[in-house]
Amino acid sequence: MSTYYTADLRADIDNYLDDQDAKLKNCPVCDDCGEHAQESWYDISGRIICDKCMEEYRRWPDDIC
Ligand SMILES: [Zn+2]
Repeated sequence: MSTYYTADLRADIDNYLDDQDAKLKNCPVCDDCGEHAQESWYDISGRIICDKCMEEYRRWPDDIC
């Protein structure tokens, strides 16, 4: 069986977090909230808008009408 659950769990976690950091660094930074867009983002006239902010924007027309 696997030796996944060992005394090296701390090392596993460190590796996991490093991997997450590396993934984040490959993602663009949202021009609206300044966070890294993680799964998907939109390029609106050269501005990067993350999925989360885009959800917010989508609500506006409903509020206005
Ligand atoms: Zn954003």
